[in-house]
Amino acid sequence: MSVSSGNNNSTLSSSSGYSGIEEHSGPLHSFLEHATVLIFPIVLVLNLHWASSRLYDLELLWLIALAIPLGVLLGDFVSGIVHWAADTYGSEDMPVIGPSLVKPFRLHHVYPRDICTHGLVETTGNVCILAVPLLSVSLYMIWLLPESGLLSFSVVCLALMATATVATNQFHKWAHQENPASFARWLQRKRLVLEPQHHKQHHTEPFNVNYCITNGWLNPLLNKLKFFRRLEATLGFFGIKTAKAKGAKIRN
Ligand SMILES: [Zn+2]
Ligand SMILES: [Zn+2]
Repeated sequence: MSVSSGNNNSTLSSSSGYSGIEEHSGPLHSFLEHATVLIFPIVLVLNLHWASSRLYDLELLWLIALAIPLGVLLGDFVSGIVHWAADTYGSEDMPVIGPSLVKPFRLHHVYPRDICTHGLVETTGNVCILAVPLLSVSLYMIWLLPESGLLSFSVVCLALMATATVATNQFHKWAHQENPASFARWLQRKRLVLEPQHHKQHHTEPFNVNYCITNGWLNPLLNKLKFFRRLEATLGFFGIKTAKAKGAKIRN
């Protein structure tokens, strides 16, 4: 959970997309962020090593060529679902997810460049807190069912999806930086990560397109299908109202 330290930075101004306020996680949240950022690469490598060794033994290693685009697309889809949900539902005062998920996404619309002031742990830690338990469960599943080719394939997809999701906020940060590193710009030009002009459409009225922020590959299709509007209509049918429909003022 992020809490405002109240430190105003006079060099940053709201007109340039910065709030000028430094946000810091609470002590427990900060500990979890640091610990899981360190553990994530370990569980990731163990998952990929064990799952691909199983696929090799089963002569199914070629499935990795299918798992790579599938895992990345799943990561992009997860980024879109989480972003859309945080933009559209709930409030900033909800317990746990209010300060850790809803508030950062909504503040980002007002101060889109604040993300550029975040360090690596602050940028990736929140997702690592969720990814580490998930990849620990998948390790346990491989240990339980070592002969299953389907499980090994699914674990490779899951591990790649988790990697894409953990990297998403870094790609999102690059999309808002004035001068990202040349390597980041190369990845953006190749559309392997979120491209700034593409993402700018999300920050433009009516602020309801291009929710996917890993590389945005799924955005054209989801926009064309009106996927998120249809999802809102379906949830509305079951009585789940958007924050706007409940009368909340959404930051845009
Ligand atoms: Zn948004
Ligand atoms: Zn953004």
